[in-house]
Amino acid sequence: METQVLVVGAGPVGLTLALDLGRRGVSCMLIERNETSIQLPKMERCNARTMEIYRRLGIAEKVRDAGLPRGAPMDVFLATSMADPAIVRLPYPSVAEAKAGIAAHNDGRPLEPYQLISQYTLEPLLRAIVETLPGVSVRFGCELTTFTQDANLVSATVRTSTGANETIRAAYLIGCDGGSSTVRKQLGIPLQGEGNIRKLRQALFLCEDLYERIPMGKGRHYHIAEGPLFPFIILQDSTRHWTLHAAASSDGEMADIFKRSLAMPIGFRMLSVNEWTQHLLCAERYGEGRVFIAGDAAHLVIPTGGLGMNTGVGDAIDLSWKLAATLAGWGGPRLLASYQSERRPIGLRNVKVSAAAMSGRLSWRAAYRPGVRQNTPEGAAIRAEMAKRFDVEQRKVTEILGIEAGYRYAGSPAVWREPGEGPDPDNPRFVATTWPGARLPHVWLNDGTALHDRLGPGYTLLRLGKKRLDTSNLARALRARGAPLEVLDIGDEPARAIYGYDALLVRPDLHVVWRGNQSPEAAEAIAAVATGHNP
Ligand SMILES: Cc1cc2nc3c(=O)[nH]c(=O)nc-3n(C[C@H](O)[C@H](O)[C@H](O)COP(=O)(O)OP(=O)(O)OC[C@H]3O[C@@H](n4cnc5c(N)ncnc54)[C@H](O)[C@@H]3O)c2cc1C
Repeated sequence: METQVLVVGAGPVGLTLALDLGRRGVSCMLIERNETSIQLPKMERCNARTMEIYRRLGIAEKVRDAGLPRGAPMDVFLATSMADPAIVRLPYPSVAEAKAGIAAHNDGRPLEPYQLISQYTLEPLLRAIVETLPGVSVRFGCELTTFTQDANLVSATVRTSTGANETIRAAYLIGCDGGSSTVRKQLGIPLQGEGNIRKLRQALFLCEDLYERIPMGKGRHYHIAEGPLFPFIILQDSTRHWTLHAAASSDGEMADIFKRSLAMPIGFRMLSVNEWTQHLLCAERYGEGRVFIAGDAAHLVIPTGGLGMNTGVGDAIDLSWKLAATLAGWGGPRLLASYQSERRPIGLRNVKVSAAAMSGRLSWRAAYRPGVRQNTPEGAAIRAEMAKRFDVEQRKVTEILGIEAGYRYAGSPAVWREPGEGPDPDNPRFVATTWPGARLPHVWLNDGTALHDRLGPGYTLLRLGKKRLDTSNLARALRARGAPLEVLDIGDEPARAIYGYDALLVRPDLHVVWRGNQSPEAAEAIAAVATGHNP
């Protein structure tokens, strides 16, 4: 066997997966059919959960250094042009302000705020980091054409840039190969939902001094109230590059729309135009046998709400430790199967949330009338109606922290079942909880450090408060299965208060398996569930 895990596709999801696998000591090969990382703009915002994951991978500050400057506001505007006053301004803090807010509160909110970074900046950065990992080999210009699998291994045929065919054998193959995934198609897994909803054009512009000259102020999203095209202008990380999305009928029209939307004499250069299609789809299954799919290969959302790459990063982090555990021998036969049980419901949910975000956008656009710019009572009434709707509906895109970071693996076979309902796992508002399946909330310790930063790569048995619950039977049961475990005693009151329990068992991906106020009677069964050995 040449490698333990063959990852197909070096988009953000494949790169994140390879990074986590490499750090866990798994030998891994990452292949990418293109010769270089993506050049066209796509995603531009890592959400709070992705940034927490990147912090855990030790790269959050590198991502921030490469992304939008920390002091830049993240406001969202509706206006009749870039030169006009805002009809609505939704203010959102810069990274520096958001970090100050996080530092000032100890209430379980995410440890990291979002970060604007263009996908064409993020991918080469991740690639450069992955290439430094000794166990990971990265091969660009190498396309998966076909594969077979049996009970012991996967045999993949790849075509290199010279046209030669090679065979690569691996214990597992992961298709992070995007929306038109070869891996998903070859497994015969159908996509469910609504495909080909609408086509849009996206253009990338270099406009050196626009950022400094926008009268309504600096922000990240500018929606232009001009039907029927509704140009949407997005700031990229350099602050000199901008993308425009519009349902234009030709590439050439994009430059005209941009010029009209600017409505001020500013020079710009159009660097690229491409067409993209909106889908709301989720794969019926997330894999078969030794082959799994993750990221856009498994779910395709309308990027309104930023749940594309960010959902895929969540897939990668769920799958990575389960692969490592199974390959190391302590992961039980049901651990990898729990990947689908945990991540597909999140994929389906995020498709639904993206649909709601998109219909919200359509609803404020429906209030548009051609007289919107007029300085008349009629014009004012149109603006007021658009503003009223925008103020409600646009928040479905930008105020969904509960969806981004509050997801819980309700009903997962790799999580201990606690009686009762638990908080709503689909609440768009973020609610810190330690219900089994939830991501462990962030807590500041008395010495000013974050508890998350104290958690190692394996399981952690957290003992909180002054009681020092006897959890030795659970520790023994986990260690007997060979699972890596650290026991961490935290006496600080805020942690006990926020977590609400004397002891918690936390998985390598920081999701809670079990919590309790008494020594666990079912220690053997909890250890079996946590490691995928449950019957
Ligand atoms: C306009 C736009 C804006 C967006 N904004 C956001 C946002 O703000 N936030 C967000 O989270 N998401 C956003 N998204 C979605 C985001 O871009 C995708 O979800 C993300 O790229 C998915 O990453 P991935 O790694 O799963 O797949 P991809 O990025 O598609 O990468 C797949 C890779 O696999 C390679 N590949 C394919 N087939 C093979 C093969 N057979 N062999 C080898 N390699 C192969 C491809 O070349 C590609 O490099 C946006 C998308 C668009 C179009």
